[in-house]
Parts: sequence; C-alpha cells; structure tokens
Amino acid sequence: MNNLTMEEIVNYAKQYGFIFQGSEIYGGLANSWDYGPLGTLLKENIRNAWKQKFVQENKYNYGLDAAIIMNPKVWVASGHVASFADPLIDCKKCKARHRADKLIEDFTKGEVTADGWSNEEIENYISKNNIVCPVCGKLDYTPIRKFNLLFETSIGVTDDTKNTVYLRGETAQGIFTNFKNVERSMRAKVPFGIAQTGKAFRNEITPGNFIFRTREFEQMELEFFCKPGTDLEWFGYWKNYCMDFLRTLGLDSEKLRMRDHSKEELAFYSKATTDIEYLFPMGWGELWGIADRTDYDLGVHQEASSQDLRYLDPETNEKYLPYVIEPSVGLDRLLLAILSNSYTLEEVGENDTRVVLKINPALAPVKVTILPLIKKVHGEKATEIYSELCRKFSASYDEAGSIGKRYRRADAVGTPLCVTVDDNTINNGTVTIRNRDTMEQETIKIEELEDYIVKITTL
Ligand code: ATP
Repeated sequence: MNNLTMEEIVNYAKQYGFIFQGSEIYGGLANSWDYGPLGTLLKENIRNAWKQKFVQENKYNYGLDAAIIMNPKVWVASGHVASFADPLIDCKKCKARHRADKLIEDFTKGEVTADGWSNEEIENYISKNNIVCPVCGKLDYTPIRKFNLLFETSIGVTDDTKNTVYLRGETAQGIFTNFKNVERSMRAKVPFGIAQTGKAFRNEITPGNFIFRTREFEQMELEFFCKPGTDLEWFGYWKNYCMDFLRTLGLDSEKLRMRDHSKEELAFYSKATTDIEYLFPMGWGELWGIADRTDYDLGVHQEASSQDLRYLDPETNEKYLPYVIEPSVGLDRLLLAILSNSYTLEEVGENDTRVVLKINPALAPVKVTILPLIKKVHGEKATEIYSELCRKFSASYDEAGSIGKRYRRADAVGTPLCVTVDDNTINNGTVTIRNRDTMEQETIKIEELEDYIVKITTL
C-alpha cells in the first residue's frame, strides 16, 4: 500500500497481537518492544527461512549458537571497546540528544548517509543545510562527541571479585572465536561459512522508528571464510544471494536497492561494503550490510589470543588467514520490512475494504484456519480436522461470528487458507478451501488437505 505510515503499522501490530510496547503496564521503557503471539510466530518463520537458505540449503555453511557474554578481551581485540561509537550531538536549547549522522539521514530521507564522515564534515553539513533540532526546531548544537554503544554489566558475586563484561554488540565475534573449532570438528575446507542468529545489544543514542532501531535486537549473521584473492568474487556471490532471498520472501523489487559504500565511507579494514536498503515507511534505511572484512577479524584475534588461527590448505600446504565476507541482517528490521510490505487495505466491492496481510504464505504466522459453518452442527467435525492439522501446521480454529467476519479476521493476519466445514464435510468428506489473496474457493477432499497446505505454504 502506498503512503503507509509507521503509526499505522504500530497500531496494526498491536491490535493483531504482533508487537506490543515493552513494560507497557509500567508506562513502557523507551523504544523497547515485546513480540506477541503472532509476532513470535512470524519472527520464528523468518529466522527459519534464513536458516534454511543460509545453512540447510547452502553446501558451504554451518550453524552456531555462541554465548551472549564473552571474555571481555574479545571486545578489546575486535576494537569495540575503543571505537564502537556513534557521533553524539546535543541540542543546547532543549537538551535533546541526537545521533548526528542520523540527523542527516532523516533529513534527506535516507538519500545521504554520513557513515565514515569526520565530526567536522558532519557538523558542516548540518549547519550548511540548516538541519534544525527535530524536537525544538532550533539550530544550536554542541560539538560532536563519540559515544560507545557497548552495554556493560558485571559477573562475579562480591564487589571485589566483580568483572566488567559486555553484552555482545554483534553476534559475529562469537563466530570468529569459534573459527578453528568449527573448522576442526566439521573438517571444513575453505571456503566455508558459519552462520548464527541471536540477540545483540547496543546502547543506541536515538533508538526509534518502531523496531527499526532498538537497543536489544536480533541479528542473523554469516561469516564466510575464503582464500584471499577470491574474496571479491564471493562478495558478489553473497550480495546476489541475499537479494534473491529478499525477493523470494516477497519484498517488492522497487522497494529494494543496493548502496555501495564509497571509499571515504568504508571502514578502514573493509575492502568493499554494500548495504541492501529497503524503503521503510519513514524512508530508505539499511536492512542488510554486506562487507568484505579482509582478514582483519581473524588477524586481531590471532594477535590478542596468541593462538594460530591460520588455515592450512591441504592441497597447497599453504598457511594463511582467510578473508571474510559478512552478510549481516537484523531480524527485527526484516520483520518490519515484511510487515510494511505486506500490509494492504484492499477495496472489495462498493464501499467495502478489507485489511489483508499479503505475506508470503511460508512466513504467515498461521497457515490455515478451520471454520465450522454452524458451530452446533459442524463444530465436532471441524475440531477433529483442526486436531489433525495442528500437528503439522500452525493452525487456528475460529467459530465466533459470521463466516464473512471470520474470513476477514484471517485475512487481516495473513492466514493464506481458510477451511470451511459444512454439511458436505459430514456427508461427502469434502471441505471448502478459500484463498486469502484471490478469495476464490475450491472444494477438496479432507484427505487432500495436508498436501494442499504444504504446496501453498512451502518457500
Ligand atoms: P546502522 O547504521 O543503522 O546503525 P549498522 O551499520 O551499525 O546499522 P551493522 O553493525 O552492520 O549495522 O549491523 C548489521 C545489521 O543489524 C543492520 O543492517 C541492521 O539490520 C541490524 N541492526 C543494527 N543495529 C540495529 C538496531 N539498533 N536495531 C535493530 N537492528 C539493528
């Protein structure tokens, strides 16, 4: 749908049990969100689709689930303790805090990104373009300061034995530290990748835009280890692989674009970086970062841990540190993209509209809903069918209200199929199956239901 606002998405997500405000009964906690029953299912389906595509169906990759709290030396070696920081700027008039580069991004609706700019360049751009404080409308900022995003906590029982540790700022470091473990245990040969999903934490200066930027979020990251010299080829391979995946999930091509980082913007260790951006309700924003990280990560961990992390090529007997291609996507951001891409207000007949979540059936939180036409007459048979189907699929049962209203409820949460149980089911063993998008109905035998649902809802 055109011109969908973030507010509409937030309201929709709350009304239908996808996402609620975190700690709501205590007045909330700024920009924290809880996933409700349908949001949980949707998130799980997206995560599973990613795992299927990046681990199960990809012959190069292995899975991993590393700890959130790691030895703090990891974060020193990776550079996060010293420089995982964003440019913080305060409005002198109203005291509002802003992330200076995001002021520029929001002002230009994502057309200009200030990644890699110096503080001076950012300050100049802000004043030249008169980018006023979004809270009070004044142009009177403090100079930019760097603000570290790592969350600190401590382990240990008593104060004197407490040690500062960090909640991981990205899942990637758990992969680098396990490079040798996976290589040895799986007898993996370069090129190979290690993929994992899990929570990451960043003390963001300005979280916002619903679940686009939060302090606690889930990442789905792949670190792909390859021979130096082959890295740019693999970089291209993974860019296309990620884009294909997004299209398969059903994101509109015209709302997706690739943005290559310029030389000035590139992190010092990166040879090439491309962001896949999506046109979110608030404008273009990064969805997936894909970077050629060279041998930087393995190099710094080799140095700091004094462990040999090099790979011994069994064919050439050469020892080298592999280069790494990293495609990293936020699960919550992807979920937001999918929700906004799928939410549709559709005219059906005169003066009538329906809310329909036109989501890829494989991602739909509920695959099929079973509806007895008349509760008293068909309820028992419908329950029997439901009991069978819910062993295989995420299914629901709805007997409340007119059949039309029940169809609309199913449409609104993106359920691809409705199965109506009526006299024909009892007399002839057939059901009516209705398609969410076409609203067309078909009669099929009960025994055919399972295959029918599999066919429609498989990625
Ligand atoms: P941004 O420039 O938006 O802060 P980033 O370049 O720091 O993002 P990466 O470190 O490359 O992000 O993280 C990889 C992915 O993790 C991002 O593409 C995004 O999808 C997701 N991500 C990063 N930060 C957040 C956040 N605060 N909330 C939700 N998702 C996030």
